[in-house]
Amino acid sequence: MRKLLLSVLLLAATLRAATPSVDADRLLDHIKFLASDDLKGRAAGSPELDRAADYIAQQFKEIGLRPGGDDGTWFQPFQVVAGMTVGAGNSLVISDMSKSVRLALGSTYYPLSTVPNESPDSPSDREERLPLVFAGYGLSARDANYDDYDGQDVSGKAVLIFTHEPQESDTNSKLNGSRPMPQTTLYQKAAVAHGLGARLLIVVSDPSHRTDPGLFTMFNAVPDLDEAGMPVLRVRRNEMQPLLDAWGLDALATQIDRDLRPRSRLIKDATVDYTEFLAHNRKTVRNVVGVIPGSDPAKAREAIVIGAHYDHVGLGGRLSMTPERAGEIHNGADDNASGTASIIEIARVAHEQRARFPRTLVFVAFAGEERGLLGSAYYADHPVISMANTVAMLNLDMVGRARGAVDISGLEVSPSMEADLKAAAQTGGEGLSIARQGPGAGRSDDFNFLSHRVPAINFFTGFHADYHRPTDDWEKIDAPGTKRVATLALELAAQIAERPTRPEFVYRDR
Ligand SMILES: [Zn+2]
Ligand SMILES: [Zn+2]
Repeated sequence: MRKLLLSVLLLAATLRAATPSVDADRLLDHIKFLASDDLKGRAAGSPELDRAADYIAQQFKEIGLRPGGDDGTWFQPFQVVAGMTVGAGNSLVISDMSKSVRLALGSTYYPLSTVPNESPDSPSDREERLPLVFAGYGLSARDANYDDYDGQDVSGKAVLIFTHEPQESDTNSKLNGSRPMPQTTLYQKAAVAHGLGARLLIVVSDPSHRTDPGLFTMFNAVPDLDEAGMPVLRVRRNEMQPLLDAWGLDALATQIDRDLRPRSRLIKDATVDYTEFLAHNRKTVRNVVGVIPGSDPAKAREAIVIGAHYDHVGLGGRLSMTPERAGEIHNGADDNASGTASIIEIARVAHEQRARFPRTLVFVAFAGEERGLLGSAYYADHPVISMANTVAMLNLDMVGRARGAVDISGLEVSPSMEADLKAAAQTGGEGLSIARQGPGAGRSDDFNFLSHRVPAINFFTGFHADYHRPTDDWEKIDAPGTKRVATLALELAAQIAERPTRPEFVYRDR
């Protein structure tokens, strides 16, 4: 009996010694490199993003993975639109019979949205002598019985609106009290105007915001615009003031604030002339792909993808939460150097323990996530093992701030994976409380697997005040916590790799 116990203990000790685990120091080293100022925030199409890709490929190679990219390389190159080139000859003139105001791009107006174009030398848009409609605050809030477009025909016209909303600081306002309504975002305002056929939207600070917070520095530092289907132009209030006075628009805003009755109108004899020379920058970016073939020749035809995006938002701009700090490096340590480091170290341990994985593991560091999940979309169209034979995807996006907890989403499309997660938590969930969340709903790269009916699980340690800001730095990373999340993902991959049957995919009604 005693002897048996001793040999069991010895066996356990041997197993432990032989079981390498994810190493927190190595994780942190990768994060320090990827989130260093040298890599300038890993923007789409930047040389620094290429350096990050080369680094990841080098790691995959040293670990002993097989290249899974095009033509025996580590890479899947594809094109993305990233930023704009500003051409010469941009112009905006707003006039009536007696006054004409000529505005200057980058100092008295800048576009928030553009119409795509391939060359900065030909106009991407030219609008001549458009009639101008004043549409109050540009709000269409039917549920609150307030619509600035009520009875107005803006089709084929330019529309001028104020920022914010009426009764903005009135806690009793029926427009959501002193909280902004969802319709108050510029994005929503632009969508409404475009939906009604407007050709151009001019946005001016409302009278209660005379200190104009227009983000000229952002446009000048990182021109990178939304696509609202038409030009949306932020025009500085100072230059507009003579026209606002002549047309009485500030007085109309005051009246709207008083009684919440829209006072939209066509401005007699007013016209807008606009010419735009802006072109999209098209850049090549690369997914990095490494493979560990399954240890069972029959099951090796099926794959588990373990992915993380390695791009970030560079110097900020449109994708920054602090656009006024455009031009500063957004290091992206948590988002998503943490996930990238994790898949590298999961790959290292999985390769050392490859007998544990009857199914094939495909490691993918995605580019283009911040620009709309583009790398995972590309991978889904060019998979190493067909999507039909990809049995599951594990995604790690922002796993650097665990502090004892991780959110796991996606289990509801594959309820039987709950048992795999439980088993994984037994071996790899130490020191982590696991919160189950609904599916990511398009927030990260797991989306492009779910949309191909591949069960996809996302690991996430939560939003924080440094999200998409220059302060998402490696010093704030919880490396032992990242190690725990990575270990849990590794163990979940091992459970899925050994399953007798593949995880199911259950449709949900959203
Ligand atoms: Zn992310
Ligand atoms: Zn992000």
